[in-house]
This record gives sequence, structure tokens and C-alpha cells, in this order.
Amino acid sequence: MNHDLAALDLKHLWHPFTAHAEWSAHDPLIIVAAEGNTLIDSHGRRYLDGVSSLWTNVHGHRHPDLDRALIDQLARVAHSTLLGLTHPPAIELAVQLVRRAPAGLTRVFYSDNGSTAVEVAVKIAFQAQQHRGEGRRVKFAGLSDAYHGDTLGAVSVGAIPEFHAIFRPLLFDAIALPAPTTPGGEEEERCLVAALRLLERHAAELAAFVYEPLVQGAAGMKMHSPHFVATIARAARELGVLLIADEVAVGFGRTGTMFASEQVGVAPDLLCIAKGLAAGYLPLAATLATERLFDDFVAEPHAGRQLFHGHTFSGNPLACAVALESLALFDRNDVLARVSRLGAAFDEALADLRTAPTVHAIRRKGVMIGIDLRRPDGEPFDPAMRYGHRVSMASRDHGAIIRPLGDTLILNPPLSLRDDEARRLVDIVGEALSAVG
Ligand SMILES: *Cc1c(COP(=O)(O)O)cnc(C)c1O
Repeated sequence: MNHDLAALDLKHLWHPFTAHAEWSAHDPLIIVAAEGNTLIDSHGRRYLDGVSSLWTNVHGHRHPDLDRALIDQLARVAHSTLLGLTHPPAIELAVQLVRRAPAGLTRVFYSDNGSTAVEVAVKIAFQAQQHRGEGRRVKFAGLSDAYHGDTLGAVSVGAIPEFHAIFRPLLFDAIALPAPTTPGGEEEERCLVAALRLLERHAAELAAFVYEPLVQGAAGMKMHSPHFVATIARAARELGVLLIADEVAVGFGRTGTMFASEQVGVAPDLLCIAKGLAAGYLPLAATLATERLFDDFVAEPHAGRQLFHGHTFSGNPLACAVALESLALFDRNDVLARVSRLGAAFDEALADLRTAPTVHAIRRKGVMIGIDLRRPDGEPFDPAMRYGHRVSMASRDHGAIIRPLGDTLILNPPLSLRDDEARRLVDIVGEALSAVG
């Protein structure tokens, strides 16, 4: 069976973000089952889910309470639309999200992935500024190296050249404010001064400032202090620029609080959430907005002020039911306290890794960890070496699935990871580094 499936994959699948010349050179690893924080392949081999199935899984795989919530909803209705109708899971989840979100976010607009959550926020901000008679505010500001998704609006407000350069002619203008790699230091202070200067220069034409608070995940786990992003956000707000917090990656406990914005101390006008929203079970996203923004869109149909946006599977009932149970689990299992203990376990384990000859720097916030790899002389590896990729592939042989961003290894496990599993995950990275040499 395995051989046939592998051949059929190579014949018919087009994988995301994948160079197929490399993909087809190896037998693909086929995941057929999972249990807790472990993935199981078609040979029965087990792997720690070191990146929580692309930063989504929160409470572990096949969690009995989440499985039960999904099955219970399945017995009622799998899908019904939010266009012209409504349903209990979408309503109840909206109530729970508003209760937990930063102050003032009272409206929930559902979609189904992180890119659409950002796309919707961008359109709301733009349209609201137009409604308010701020016709010149047609641009957006973001942070350097930002990633906000792959649809064209999300790409426009992002700033990762490798991903986005070819689409440049299709994109609208955005201003990238310099952001540091590590929090607190001199580099951050320099970035902050330059960012504030750029912001002030462009403020009159800006609709919104889009930012990932505390950790720029896909930028390679770049991190900044709460002070850094709070200072820019407050200045932007002062200048009439709306705030869009993209918590698609950092939301749902990954930085130690339910939302990273809590640590920043600035409540945004729009909050984008996706990845962990339905605990990594199903695609679900939401854009939360303030009542003030919502009011900008309230009018009779013929006025044409409504938000002209919606997706077929917006607020799917199965996904909402799982998301609701996931939020209940955060309370029942005191998950945020667990994240703090898990962080301490990681720090202890990571301390040993720092002495490895190709480990240049390690950053951690909550369960989000970036490990920069460089040559022993401190110079970056030749990208053609695919060093980070090779270490990630080697860690599979030792029992963990991880996925790098260039030569930065990423660990971002489920919040349910046990201390001994955290230690094992870091040990596996060490073993893989030794194996690759
Ligand atoms: C993953 C991610 C997105 C895009 O989400 P998709 O579900 O992949 O479309 C947007 N913003 C951030 C910060 C992300 O990490």
C-alpha cells in the first residue's frame, strides 16, 4: 500500500511551498494516524509533532473531548451557511471569543484560513477609512520580513522577498517598518527610531498598521519586546491609523498568554486569528473588530455600506464546535499555566544545545522557538547546502517532525507537550545536528 500511495502522490499531488525536484527525490513520509503529541506513519513509526502540524495543534491529536465535540455536532449538521442564516456553534463561539479577546473587540467575522482573516481585516480597515471620509488613506504599514498569508492582499502587506518578489506587479503598496531579530537590545532601539520616523512620514496616507505582536513567526521567529510594538502601535493610533494585530500564529496561548496583544498592552482595532482557533482540527479563522468599526458598515442595503466579503464555508459548524470545546479545555486544564512550565523545561533542554558548533542563536517565547544555524566561523551557510532542511530531515530518523525556515530550525509544538517530550525533542535536534555534521 505504502509504495502505491507514494507513487500516486508523486504522480498527482502539487504540494504547497514545495520544490518538486527535491520532493520527488525521496520517498514521501505518509502520516496515517496520530495520538497525543505523536504522529504515526504508514510503517507504524512514531514522531513527536515538533511543529504541531504547522503551528495549529493545541491540545494534542485525537483529544477525546475535541473528538466528542466534533462527533456531537456531526450528529446535528455538518455545514450550513452564515449568509442569510445562523447557527448555535457560530453564535456561542463568537460570545466566547469576545469574552477572551483584548478589550473592545465585540464583533466576529468568520472565514476559513489565516490569509483570509488578514484579507478581511485589510478590507475592513480600508473601507472604514473611505466611509469616514479619509479618502487618502489607501496604504498599509507592516513590519520588515512580515508574513501575513498568501492571498494577494495578505502578500501585499507582507515583506518576505523570497515568497513574494515575483508577484510584485500584482500587489498594492505597503511600507515596511524595520523590526529587530531579538528583543530588547540596541538593534531594537535603532529599528524603533527608524520605524517611528517612517510611520510619521507616511501616516496621512496610511489606512492601517498590520503587525504580528511579539513573534514574527514565518519571518524566522524574529522577536521584539512589548515596548517596541506598543510604541509603534500607540503612535499609529495617535496619527489616525487603524491597528490590525495578526495573531494567526501567536494566538491561543503560544506566547504564554491567550493573545500576545495582552502582553503588548494595546488592544487592536482588528484581530486576526486562525491556526490554533479550532485546536488544529479543522480550518477556521476569524477577524474580530471593534463596535466602532462595525458601526461604520451599518446602513440600509441600498446604501451599499456593507462589507462585500464572505466565504462559502465561513464559520463552519463542525469547526466552530471544536473551537468552542478547545476554549473550554484552556480553562479546564489551565493550559496557560502549563505553557509557562513547558517554557522552563525547554530552557533547560535548550541550554545544552547552545554549545553545538553550528548553533548560532536560540530564541524562545512561550512554545515558539527559533534556532539559527551558521557555520562554526559564524558565517551563514551557502543556501544551496540546504543545511536547515538537511537537519530537519535527519531529525525524522531520530523520531521528530520539524520544519525549518531557511537555516532557522523551528520548534513550535502542541501546548500539550510533556516536559519529557520537550527534552526528547531538543535531544533529537542535537542528534540530527551531529548526524549532519
Ligand atoms: C500562517 C499565517 C498566516 C496565513 O494563514 P493560512 O491559514 O496559511 O492562510 C497569516 N499570518 C500569520 C502570522 C501566519 O503565521
